[in-house]
Amino acid sequence: STNARTPLMAANWKMHLSVAEAISFIAALHERVGSSQDREVLIAPPFTHLWPLRETMAAAGFSLAAQNCHWEPQGAFTGEVSLSMIRETGCRYVIVGHSERRHIFGEPDEWIGLKTAAALARGVVPIVCIGEKIEEREAGLTEEVLQRQLTAALDKVSVPSADALVIAYEPVWAIGTGKTATPQQAQEAHAFVRQWLEKRFDKAVANGVRILYGGSVKPDNVDDLMAQPDIDGALVGGASLKASSFARIVQFTR
Ligand code: PGA
Repeated sequence: STNARTPLMAANWKMHLSVAEAISFIAALHERVGSSQDREVLIAPPFTHLWPLRETMAAAGFSLAAQNCHWEPQGAFTGEVSLSMIRETGCRYVIVGHSERRHIFGEPDEWIGLKTAAALARGVVPIVCIGEKIEEREAGLTEEVLQRQLTAALDKVSVPSADALVIAYEPVWAIGTGKTATPQQAQEAHAFVRQWLEKRFDKAVANGVRILYGGSVKPDNVDDLMAQPDIDGALVGGASLKASSFARIVQFTR
């Protein structure tokens, strides 16, 4: 199959690593993977790391992402960070609706929609995370949940170009558990997301949007996942914290 989507291999560091550790990580990763043209390497560190890492990241040819954002341009929102602040630090991407935001911090679907629309409006590419819980999968509700989350995240937006948006399918039961979705389970969900994108937007957007898989991606399962036709990259938590293991993930073979 012809697939023009550049693989996007993304590290979600969550609340880990110091700035000094991050700088050594980037050097070690760059030494291992170089600045390859055929795959994009992205790191989402904590907010406090964005500004101090921007030059090192740019020099390595890696993309920088924030892990969260607020949708308002400014205001009395203690503890929040706006999209223009995020852009100013050199970020092209922002993760929106990660399952830890949804389930630990209680973010409702509606906020994910506001954040996605605001990111698109301000020229920051949202990485919209969706995914079902184990009881939803066991009840046969996976597609219903994905559809509900996609609708809430994207219903009020227009996406003029496919590179303005990234989707991450992350089954909640696979995140941080060591239980990866099988390549077939992931492919089924990704194909469903792509069909939804075609109905909601058009064929060009559906064919161009990158859909990442997340949930216990490791060096030993990345190749089988990336071999699936609708898996265009990975969003990696635990295995992204060591340069050697993340480098192996970046260097997947199809
Ligand atoms: P994990 O996390 O790779 O540790 O499962 C993935 C994520 O939460 O994005």
